[in-house]
Amino acid sequence: MGRKLDLSGLTDDEAEHVLKVVQRDMKLRKKEEERLSEMKQELAEEGSRCSILSKQHRFNEHCCIRCCAPFTFLLNPKRQCLDCQYNVCKTCSTYSKRDKAWLCSACQKGRLRKQFKREEEAW
Ligand SMILES: [Zn+2]
Ligand SMILES: [Zn+2]
Repeated sequence: MGRKLDLSGLTDDEAEHVLKVVQRDMKLRKKEEERLSEMKQELAEEGSRCSILSKQHRFNEHCCIRCCAPFTFLLNPKRQCLDCQYNVCKTCSTYSKRDKAWLCSACQKGRLRKQFKREEEAW
């Protein structure tokens, strides 16, 4: 705040009113800043919480291990990956017809890599 308010042309009552408005405005702005920084902190905590919780089995009962999306009945059903045994959501799982089971995106990629390797070795 480098600029000083010029209240010389105002009556005492008017000056007081202006000051009150300015003070209220500053308070509101400060509150808003506090709220924003709280939100930022919450987001950061959310990120680290996800990585910690994903290692815990109970977390995986309710949320996808790959993308942390919560499971919901019908809309986002829980599916267990055949390879890693973790629960994954609809978007992170693919059905393997050969195994008649679900595979998570990470394990599917791993399998593809292995398959390519085997084919390379067969040549
Ligand atoms: Zn997911
Ligand atoms: Zn898996």
